[in-house]
Amino acid sequence: MRRKLIAGNWKMNGSLATNAVLLSGIKAEVGQAACTVAVCVPAPYLAQCQAVLTGSPVAWGGQDLSVHDSGAYTGEVSGAMLADFGCSYVIVGHSERRSYHAENNELVAQKTLRALKSGLTPIVCVGESLAEREAGQTDVVVGKQLAAVLAAVDAADLGGIVVAYEPVWAIGTGKTATPQMAQDVHAMLRLRLRERNAAAADKVQILYGGSMRPDNARELLAMPDIDGGLIGGASLKTIDFLAIARAA
Ligand code: PEP
Repeated sequence: MRRKLIAGNWKMNGSLATNAVLLSGIKAEVGQAACTVAVCVPAPYLAQCQAVLTGSPVAWGGQDLSVHDSGAYTGEVSGAMLADFGCSYVIVGHSERRSYHAENNELVAQKTLRALKSGLTPIVCVGESLAEREAGQTDVVVGKQLAAVLAAVDAADLGGIVVAYEPVWAIGTGKTATPQMAQDVHAMLRLRLRERNAAAADKVQILYGGSMRPDNARELLAMPDIDGGLIGGASLKTIDFLAIARAA
């Protein structure tokens, strides 16, 4: 049985003052959740997370990492830097990175490798657009996104990744995949993972992301291959984020 993971993706939101309230609220109440809870925050706030969350059950992580180790890459943040600030996780290949920063499947696969080499757990995002879903291309698109990662990562290391299925049309739109729609894609992803390493595939947490809220979380999280959630908007409200964690 896989332990569930509820990870918040704050995106480019927050301030020292608002984070302090959010983090202390999560830390105070997280004991009531039976799952693993993490927050993925903007890089400048990692030190604040480390200061507030060290010693608590709440893990933290970044939202992206450089494909490079170090050097003349202005503005980039390396995996080692994230690890320096106590990160356990890093989101890789979020659809906003894929669309606004032209990250392709190969780059996402290399970033996944870099995260593993830095001792971080990559949360690898995959998902189709509305046009791709309507054209019946979901499995093809999502399958290709995962295949690039499977080709890059050693089969033996596969158990170290987390996959997040995030249909692009559901992110920040209020539209959610039905539990069965999400389960169908998760089952396909599990099958592809299994073809590469059966033992690891049973360990890999496959999260759903896309307008997960307190009112729809329980149903989604009840599906056999949905092992948690990557939560955007609702992760900025202590009550909502904790309600999702308690539903897991
Ligand atoms: C996300 O950005 O990863 C996400 C799932 O956002 P939201 O929950 O706001 O749809």
